[in-house]
Amino acid sequence: MKMNFKFFKSLRFRIMIILVIIGIIPSVAVEKGIVNSYEDRAVSLRSFGVKNQCDILVNQLIKEQYLNDQSSEGINSELTMLSNVYSGRILIIDQDFRVIKDTYDIDRGRYMISKEVVRCFTEGKESSIYDRKNRYIEMTLPIYQGLEEKQQVSGVLLISVSTEEIVASIEILEQKGLMILLIIAVLVLGLGYVLAGILMKPFAKVTRAIEDITDGFQDEKISVPDYTETELITDAFNKMLGRVKSLDNSRQEFVSNVSHELKTPLTSMKVLADSLVGQENVPVELYQEFMQDIAEEIDRENKIITDLLTLVKLDKKAANVNIETVNINELLELILKRLKPIAGKRNIELVLESYRPVNAEVDETKLTLALNNLVENAIKYNVDEGWVRVSLNADHKYFYVTVADSGKGIPEESIDHIFERFYRVDKSHSTEIDGTGLGLAITRSAIMMHHGAIRVRSTEGEGTTFSVRIPLTYIG
Ligand code: ADP
Repeated sequence: MKMNFKFFKSLRFRIMIILVIIGIIPSVAVEKGIVNSYEDRAVSLRSFGVKNQCDILVNQLIKEQYLNDQSSEGINSELTMLSNVYSGRILIIDQDFRVIKDTYDIDRGRYMISKEVVRCFTEGKESSIYDRKNRYIEMTLPIYQGLEEKQQVSGVLLISVSTEEIVASIEILEQKGLMILLIIAVLVLGLGYVLAGILMKPFAKVTRAIEDITDGFQDEKISVPDYTETELITDAFNKMLGRVKSLDNSRQEFVSNVSHELKTPLTSMKVLADSLVGQENVPVELYQEFMQDIAEEIDRENKIITDLLTLVKLDKKAANVNIETVNINELLELILKRLKPIAGKRNIELVLESYRPVNAEVDETKLTLALNNLVENAIKYNVDEGWVRVSLNADHKYFYVTVADSGKGIPEESIDHIFERFYRVDKSHSTEIDGTGLGLAITRSAIMMHHGAIRVRSTEGEGTTFSVRIPLTYIG
């Protein structure tokens, strides 16, 4: 049942239907046309023949003054013969609309005032009507006073001729037509099925190729260049495949980075603990020192895990954003106030330049996280006695925050990588300057979540400037 339903929904079925319609409708039209024109022709031929006969007859009627005297044997037998030949009936009506002759002998003496008869008397015109439903042709012909006097109509000859024969021929024609139509229908249906199948083949090929990739039989790009359409589909699919692959790669890389980063503090702890366990009579001071180192490593592990969780939460995108109108000036002031003690320790000057008051729709916690990381980095990677300048400006659409420092800068080859997870410019520094390599990744995710942008410019040995641009109103 389900398969059947699927077939009716398929493009193949639709192409078939279109072919059938295109094939059968003209055939039906042609058949109808042929039957109709045959009918017209047969009826007009018959009418023509009947009229010729009747014209001769009317002349004879006039000549022999039949209207006054119906005893003429010759004419009577001719009338009977004519009505027999055409399996019809002839009535002759006089000026008083009375039937004076009926080949059926039924209506003689009665009156006959039909529209055609009246018209024939008044206008002197003959008429011919084909009654399709009752299958006869009816003709009226005027009978004039004399052969030369064509004005005075003194009688009417009314003849009705059966068209039974014509109808029978039409029926045979129609039957044959129907047979031919049926044959055409079957042929078109079969041909349509096969043709539609051939037309759809490339699409089946695309499906098979995609399935092969899904099942792992093939992991190259797919290519079905048979049609422009299939080429477009495969191109789009290949693009998607590329994305999936690169996503998969970055996921694998991320997992291996995470494992590595989480293992480093554990390895250090293990070394410290082993060296304590392996020695006898360890002095208490050494214990204390090593335990302090172990505690530091635990803090580090903790920080990595916290940062990772923050990143994962941010990556979930709009899942848990909490947008409200926030005064960005105050937000920056608070960040700087909190970081001032750390800067103070190394005599680093920390200044905020606000060009105008800015209120924007943001997620306060996440934006604080993002900007805090930038300022914290500016202090961390600065030189003693250096400076950090944070500025805030806005136009009608965005607000702009820059964080500039007088630090050691970022080498050119590293600039493109600093936003990657776990990337640190100089790994050997990791013991010197504390960090997980996740800070800027978090910053960028938070800014992206606000549909903002972040840029960095840096000169080694001179300093670094991060510029952030965020829309004033949140785009959902
Ligand atoms: P980390 O936890 O190491 O600070 P981040 O993701 O915050 O991780 O930064 C990545 C790397 O970018 C840092 O290790 C550092 O080498 C470099 N970096 C970031 N900010 C600055 C800056 N203001 N000046 C110089 N280098 C920076």
